[in-house]
Amino acid sequence: MYDVIIVGARCAGAATALLLARQGVRVLLADRTTFPSDTVSTHLLHPAGVARLREWNLLEPLLATGCPPLDAISYHAAEDLVLRGAPYAYEDVTISVAPRRTVLDALLVEAAVAAGAELREGASLRNVLWEDGRVVGAEFGSGADSSGGSGVFTERASLVIGADGRHSTVAREVGAKLVRDAGTFGCQFYGYWSGLPDEGTQIFIGGGQAVLAYPTHDRHHLVLVGWPHARFAEVKQDIDRHFLAAVATSAPAVREHLTDDARSERITGSGDLANYVRESSGPGWVLVGDAAMAKDAVTAQGIGDAFSQAQSLAERLPAALAAGPRAVDASTAAHVADRDRDGATAFETTVAFAMGGNSSELLPVLRAIADRPDLVSMFYGIYAGRVTMDEFAAAVG
Ligand SMILES: Cc1cc2nc3c(=O)[nH]c(=O)nc-3n(C[C@H](O)[C@H](O)[C@H](O)COP(=O)(O)OP(=O)(O)OC[C@H]3O[C@@H](n4cnc5c(N)ncnc54)[C@H](O)[C@@H]3O)c2cc1C
Repeated sequence: MYDVIIVGARCAGAATALLLARQGVRVLLADRTTFPSDTVSTHLLHPAGVARLREWNLLEPLLATGCPPLDAISYHAAEDLVLRGAPYAYEDVTISVAPRRTVLDALLVEAAVAAGAELREGASLRNVLWEDGRVVGAEFGSGADSSGGSGVFTERASLVIGADGRHSTVAREVGAKLVRDAGTFGCQFYGYWSGLPDEGTQIFIGGGQAVLAYPTHDRHHLVLVGWPHARFAEVKQDIDRHFLAAVATSAPAVREHLTDDARSERITGSGDLANYVRESSGPGWVLVGDAAMAKDAVTAQGIGDAFSQAQSLAERLPAALAAGPRAVDASTAAHVADRDRDGATAFETTVAFAMGGNSSELLPVLRAIADRPDLVSMFYGIYAGRVTMDEFAAAVG
């Protein structure tokens, strides 16, 4: 018997596990995969997420893995317009980072285990267990395909936390409906190259596409191209050709470095970028991270969102677990209400950006603030979900 079973052990699940285990909660952390392992993500983390890692005593260990701090951004809004500034500060944190998920997720998992969480890798959720209308546990199959047989095991807990991503099995099992289905507008493809000069985070907007380049582990740069989702099928037919042509058009100086010799992995990507919010809590269950709500990657907020949801749950749950099932359900409902209240504007802004709403009509404003690094930084704060469009407009005047 555990206090909580967490299904999914990446940035939402492992962060929740480590924060709960550090408070003495008995945690089973299960994932169908093993760690370290990669997942599809361009893994940029804004200063608020960096601040969480620092609070959890994980920032120094992360930087020690060779994860470079990113303290400068150049935003190429047009051929003759480059905005230079810094990430929008959160508290006293003024850097972003872009850690490989092989490193970040493994660091979180290790910290959760060190705090006392029990980790089961290769454990795939098959179904949740119900008693009197309440989720009371989960049944897993061991092995990636959960095909049953001798590898099936069940565990009971006061709460099952679904941190199992966009296609959450927990959400399916509890029948969590979409409460906001804002659609799919973008797709992203990316790869890793060595030998690019360190110019911080470079963003090139225009021509119906966005190109970004930023340093990550192993002295590599991640280079990504974002397109409208309507182009996804066409790009998939010949990813390398479309990708390199897009970088050549938007960022010729970056393209020069994208040689086969300098490339470390194949270019990959996803069009699975729907914007949605699900019903996220009920009797004996709660969803966190992408299982609960997800946004287009255009604003790079998914990992930071997962961290803040983990923090919010972990602040509430230990006392509620001690008080019994009703208190647990009340605390998860309160967590979801706070998340919706605090995250509504960032959700709608991301949807607007994903629909292409940040392009031509913003140009006159961006020209007006080009020599104001404070306002440029504030503009980046919109992407980071820290500044609303209204606040930015008021500051610009
Ligand atoms: C192309 C792309 C680019 C992105 N770029 C960024 C970015 O730059 N910055 C950013 O912050 N976010 C970005 N995101 C979003 C970010 O990757 C996600 O928000 C984040 O990974 C969500 O974390 P999670 O822990 O909720 O889910 P996931 O990372 O999806 O992890 C879910 C885990 O659950 C496990 N699991 C699933 N089903 C089961 C099951 N039945 N049983 C057991 N385990 C299960 C999986 O194995 C997995 O390990 C991007 C996403 C995409 C697709």
